[in-house]
Amino acid sequence: MELTGQNFIGNTRSADGSVTFQAVNPATGEDLQPSYVEATGDEVDQAFRKAEEAFKVYRQKSGTRRAELLEAIADEIEVLGDQLIRRCSRETGLTEGHLNGERGRTVGQLRLFGKVIREGSWVDARIDTSKEGPDIRSMKMALGPVGIFGASNFPLAFSVAGGDTASALAAGCTIVVKAHPAHPGTCEMVGGAIRKAVEETGMPDGTFSMVQGTSHEVGQAMVEHPLAKAIGFTGSFKGGKALYDAATRRPEPIPVYAEMGSTNPMFLLPGALKEQGEELAEGLVNSVNLGVGQFCTNPGLVAYQDSDEARAFQQKVSEHFKKASAGTMLTAGIQSAYKQGLEKLLQQEGVRLVADGKDNGSATPGVPHLLNVSSKDFLANRFLEEEVFGPSTLTITAGGKQDLVAIAENLQGHLTATLYGTEQDLEEYSELVRVLQRKVGRLIFNGFPTGVQVNHAMVHGGPFPATTDARATSVGTLAIERFVRPVCFQGFPEEQLPDELKADNPLGIGRLVNGERTK
Ligand code: NAP
Repeated sequence: MELTGQNFIGNTRSADGSVTFQAVNPATGEDLQPSYVEATGDEVDQAFRKAEEAFKVYRQKSGTRRAELLEAIADEIEVLGDQLIRRCSRETGLTEGHLNGERGRTVGQLRLFGKVIREGSWVDARIDTSKEGPDIRSMKMALGPVGIFGASNFPLAFSVAGGDTASALAAGCTIVVKAHPAHPGTCEMVGGAIRKAVEETGMPDGTFSMVQGTSHEVGQAMVEHPLAKAIGFTGSFKGGKALYDAATRRPEPIPVYAEMGSTNPMFLLPGALKEQGEELAEGLVNSVNLGVGQFCTNPGLVAYQDSDEARAFQQKVSEHFKKASAGTMLTAGIQSAYKQGLEKLLQQEGVRLVADGKDNGSATPGVPHLLNVSSKDFLANRFLEEEVFGPSTLTITAGGKQDLVAIAENLQGHLTATLYGTEQDLEEYSELVRVLQRKVGRLIFNGFPTGVQVNHAMVHGGPFPATTDARATSVGTLAIERFVRPVCFQGFPEEQLPDELKADNPLGIGRLVNGERTK
């Protein structure tokens, strides 16, 4: 596929602007062709107007028809073949092996959402025909056009055809995507695949648009657009919070689902350090360095009580870190933020460098770092909880059980928290479990937080500042809930009701009828 550097305003390519930028290969610093034309305010406006017109038609399409679109997008992404993987690797520094896996996840989640909407029960149809009052029926329906911001760290699975796109299109929303400026060529290829799928499946022009840009104006224009009904975002705290604040200033506020990352605290309990210290040490190094530490579930804090076993564990982890090699980070900006974050951490009271890994000679090396601090110093300094995006982790040596509980109680919101231990440990530290339930979206026992499964039960979210809405998940099929609202039909004649709410249940979906679950 030949890259053009243009935006997609519905099915039409467009490049009205005069500001251009190029992708940069982070491994070499070399500029990549072609130049990309930043979308103008007018193009963003046209994209939302088309999305609104398309929504009027797309929202009426059956679950089966929308599933055909999602499946066609997955097929078209596969047709892009190795060309997509090669371009993506040059733009992100991620290895082709890593990206092959990520492509599998991307097409897998599109097809999974397809299955959910073909089956149909997700609309949560409720029918109440009790004698005392009028006939009342409700179901979930799509919100309208949604603005989506692709993430830098998952250029396929959380970008143009990623989880936000799959869940919004599945819900029946039309979308305007902001391509991530760090991988515009990958975005154009995937955007082209979506456009093709929209045409092949006969969906209205405007179901999908994609705008390019390196300045905040493009994103701000999306959030401020009066036709936007929700925003999905994955990225920095600064960016997510700025977009959230912009949305609250609109005359009509809209939900902003911003996933802004976290430090994913791990608590290593005494039984685990005694019985599996060696495996834990190796597992931790691998988890911290996965994707050059650029995962929102990267374990950035690891707390344990001081003991002989804890010191032996720390020694082992340190040996592994010294042997670990740097990888290429996604962008020069992310690499410089990582370096500055580490420098700032090392200036804090009581923080010491335990070990660091080897440079790989790339233009943007992410060198693994292992740091340590006491629980006393950690508890005295809120800054130590902040995310340093990259392959580092801060271990916290605690005096006793109550110090671990105090660490947990003082935490802000995170995506995950992990407990490693025996079942007996878990019983003894039940207070820790109770405290952590209020702090995170996913609690893990004896596993590492990296590796987020896409399934029906996954929660990838959490209290602020991990996200701007703790009620939502951005991974897994529950993510569809973000882009719908309940609509109630009171006293309607049968013929005018949506199929999901008709008396004879023509779609054969699971429903709640007069308080009873039915199929
Ligand atoms: P980012 O700076 O938050 O940018 C993400 C997207 O949001 C880009 O398209 C960016 O476009 C847009 N944006 C950011 N701030 C904006 C604003 N104030 N107004 C309008 N649009 C805005 O994230 P990034 O470039 O991917 O990485 C930077 C840092 O984010 C990393 O160092 C890391 O700390 C963090 N990060 C976290 C996660 C996570 O898992 N939560 C993932 C990736 C990155 P423009 O650049 O064109 O404005």
